[in-house]
Amino acid sequence: MKIIMLGAPGAGKGTQAKMLADKYEIPHISTGDIFRANIKNETELGKKAKEYMDKGLLVPDELTVNLVVDRIKQDDCSKGYILDGFPRTIPQAEALDKALSDLNDKLDYAINVEVPDENIVKRMSGRRACVGCGATYHIVHIPTKVEGICDRCGKELILRDDDKPETVEKRLKVYHEQTQPLIDYYQGKGILKEVDGTVDMKEVFDAIVNILEA
Ligand code: ADP
Ligand code: AMP
Repeated sequence: MKIIMLGAPGAGKGTQAKMLADKYEIPHISTGDIFRANIKNETELGKKAKEYMDKGLLVPDELTVNLVVDRIKQDDCSKGYILDGFPRTIPQAEALDKALSDLNDKLDYAINVEVPDENIVKRMSGRRACVGCGATYHIVHIPTKVEGICDRCGKELILRDDDKPETVEKRLKVYHEQTQPLIDYYQGKGILKEVDGTVDMKEVFDAIVNILEA
């Protein structure tokens, strides 16, 4: 099962992708997580990516596409994978299609998690991410048992630098300009499925599972 998650920043793509990856035992590939790991490890890629991420801009396609194309060729992706945060531009989507068709393969579903902009800023300011395992919580909607501590691995939770309200506004603008056109792109390919992302995360999950198992 090869799935991509579409939706605005903060729509809940990562939350759902992690749950789907657990259920179907396939890798969750988040370009945002890959860039953040590179930033933490102070790699060359991390240094370059940070310049864009801190401004709420997309990392250039040249730094992003090969990373994903190499990743999906790895053995653990043979049964499928969930791409979260990629593609984010039409050239990225075209490059992914090309790479897949070279492998005689194709995507099964593009799941668009719909959340209006009004909800997004509130979600992002309440998002907390674990420095250890990358698990994501929300201080109101998805709280941890002990404040500031990850339920899964016990490490500390942080507010992402790019979740500050001024950066979120910029990220939303970039989303509408560069990423939203992918909805029509995948509609045209006949694999677009839409779910309401404003309801409880379990309900969103059930809606996605119903689509995948229909
Ligand atoms: P994305 O990966 O699309 O940027 P996340 O999965 O990180 O988004 O979710 C953004 C924030 O919203 C997180 O704090 C997350 O815990 C919270 N969240 C995710 N899904 C829901 C939901 N259905 N209802 C309320 N909050 C949610
Ligand atoms: P995310 O964790 O998906 O919200 O991504 C965080 C940031 O990483 C984005 O705001 C971008 O700066 C960068 N990023 C992640 N995925 C991509 C991508 N596919 N193309 C370009 N930039 C990306």
